[in-house]
Amino acid sequence: MKFLIVGAGFSGAVIGRELADLGHQITIIDSRSHVAGNCHTARDDRTQIMVHKYGPHIFHTDNQEVWEYINQFGEMMPYVNRVKAITNGQVYTMPINLHTINQFFGKTFNPSEARFFLESQTDQSIDDPVTFEQQALKFVGKKIYEAFFKYYTIKQWGIEPNRLPASVLKRLPIRFNYDDNYFSHKYQGIPKEGYTKIIENIINHPRIKVILNKSFEHNMKHEFDHIIWTGALDNYFDYELGELGYRTLDFETSYGNGDMQGNAVINYCDNTSSYTRITEHKHFSPWEKHENSICHKEFSRICTKNDIPYYPIRLVDDKQMFEEYFKLANQTNGVTFVGRLGTYRYLDMDVTIKEALEIVNLMQKHLKANINLQAFYHYDH
Ligand code: UDP
Repeated sequence: MKFLIVGAGFSGAVIGRELADLGHQITIIDSRSHVAGNCHTARDDRTQIMVHKYGPHIFHTDNQEVWEYINQFGEMMPYVNRVKAITNGQVYTMPINLHTINQFFGKTFNPSEARFFLESQTDQSIDDPVTFEQQALKFVGKKIYEAFFKYYTIKQWGIEPNRLPASVLKRLPIRFNYDDNYFSHKYQGIPKEGYTKIIENIINHPRIKVILNKSFEHNMKHEFDHIIWTGALDNYFDYELGELGYRTLDFETSYGNGDMQGNAVINYCDNTSSYTRITEHKHFSPWEKHENSICHKEFSRICTKNDIPYYPIRLVDDKQMFEEYFKLANQTNGVTFVGRLGTYRYLDMDVTIKEALEIVNLMQKHLKANINLQAFYHYDH
């Protein structure tokens, strides 16, 4: 079959590769001048440092199959993400761990003392937290919430945390030991030659043709048997039901010598600054040596149609519109919607790859059984 895949990020690349391996003819188009979507990495002209062009990406997963999959296409270097957080003039470690708790409250608690103490700070009357704020008040209490989460979240999402789903905060662990690894996953790393190289290797296949700087047009449908859409769900439908909310990011670049901030990522959690974090890219490649340095200050804002969407907002009280889009997509023959933007979910890279592999398996089953390919192969929101 002839497939058109719109978008050359992880979803598009993995699905394209797997379908090509099964003998299908694949065309991948992307409106940008590079592959890899928002994972794109490129060496900075001035410093030769590998820069995560669309913000920090650290690969982390518990899924062995996904880890083995990505390792086939490039060397993954060991990397542990240790984030610092600045609030009210002090530096702490993130995620919230025993060191953060002891430093913040000026204590020397052991794990069970800290657990007991933190519980006294939390609101146990909240049974089943629905919002980000409820989740925070139930698990870390008002003081930690206000110092580390409230203002960062307002800066990041542009809305009060009582309108965001609890799932956003559930991404972060709370630890009662001194483990300050940002992630709890078994496998963690960063590609030695960057994510773009990995994606290039995934799509390097005789049956895959890649066209960059090319936007989708609906009349392209006639040239292909099926479309895989990895772009924004509402964009496919020309926003006919309204615009789904996304956040986009702006980066302010600065250069310096040596070590500018001493760590890859520092979060700015209070409301004395309008940026959320500063990334010093050289620290993402500790296996390389660079005299100079490049930092990105990250600002989040609402995404307009002309911006690159990063984060689906998924307001608690705004579910209706995306439910309507899912219905519309389900009624659209000849197109499968996938990935972070295509299914309007906050997906990490590993889940995106896992789903892409599963989708191809299911598609293959449907094709063998002569069943039409579906709009969605994952609908668990
Ligand atoms: N968050 C926060 N303070 C921090 C780090 C995270 O309030 O110092 C909140 C914020 O709302 C953020 C969410 O937790 O969007 C998830 O954080 P994560 O680090 O997973 O965000 P990502 O790296 O995907 O932007």
